Amino acid sequence: MPVILQPTPDNIAMCAERLRRGMSVAFPTETVYGLGCDASSEAAVTEVYAMKARPHNNPLIAHVTDAAMAKKHVVGWDVRAQRLAEAFWPGPLAIVLPRRHDICALSVGGRASVAVRAPAHPVAQALIAAFGRPVSAPSANRSGRLSPTSAEHVAEEFAGVAELPILDGGPCEVGLESTVLDLSRARPMILRPGAVTQRDLEPIIGPVAMPEIGHQAASPGTSASHYAPQTHTELVDEKLLASRLAECAGRAAVVALAGSAVEAPHELFALPRHPAAYAQMLYATMRRADASGATVILIVAPGERGGMWDAAHDRIKRAAAKRPERA
Ligand code: AMP
Ligand code: MG
Repeated sequence: MPVILQPTPDNIAMCAERLRRGMSVAFPTETVYGLGCDASSEAAVTEVYAMKARPHNNPLIAHVTDAAMAKKHVVGWDVRAQRLAEAFWPGPLAIVLPRRHDICALSVGGRASVAVRAPAHPVAQALIAAFGRPVSAPSANRSGRLSPTSAEHVAEEFAGVAELPILDGGPCEVGLESTVLDLSRARPMILRPGAVTQRDLEPIIGPVAMPEIGHQAASPGTSASHYAPQTHTELVDEKLLASRLAECAGRAAVVALAGSAVEAPHELFALPRHPAAYAQMLYATMRRADASGATVILIVAPGERGGMWDAAHDRIKRAAAKRPERA
């Protein structure tokens, strides 16, 4: 069984020592929980891909304490990168730049670039500082599934993995994965929408391209189906919810804004109306819907767009996308 640990100085030192020995550690960030390992060790990175059953072409983000650490491991840390780090780090923004060779090729799917991010969670900061070098960390879930936003979620994901230490930092404040911004091309491009939005970025570095939601083909690993519950999941327009429920043979778990009309035997899994609160609760709520024994999960897309809503729309669209094995 994984072991959930309080983030005491002793436990953080023990986890940093594990990283030095090429082993993995689950730790909290403000976005989601990560499964960390030494970014320079091919053996450690190989184990993390195996634990997640993650395709090898899906690159990992290297987590750093700050711009000073990031600079040492990328090429071309320019004034744009510096300004972004000053504005948003530590925080939910990963910056893609050409990598130096101490970030191992396996950790980035053989690419010439690496995404670097300084997480804001104090436990993540303490762990990376104690280790002293970048920590490669994908979200601490099995590949394709919902990202964990609490230590208990991580324990569920890796129930069969002996001795995995999970530093418990409480529920994640942001709740969705970081914004991934590609700075390695002439015109910066958002590869994955997150809490740092196009509106936040443009005043700092000028025009930023953002592919239409659900079409981030440029971002490796962000396939149409991702961040998905195990129960069959559909995206439903609010106006069509009543008719979809009427034709539902079994019991539906409806993930929708609080106040939505849902009657027994179906069940409402309510989400708050404020976009940041919605994002924070989305994965935990989908997990509860998934565990409820419902025959189908119906996600009602919120009407609002822009800002944090874009990241939320991106994730619910992927949660409901047909998986290759089902198609
Ligand atoms: P996760 O570790 O699950 O949060 O996923 C990280 C995501 O960041 C990947 O699936 C990619 O879409 C993106 N990413 C990470 N590194 C790179 C990179 N070097 N180039 C482009 N996208 C990246
Ligand atoms: Mg992930």
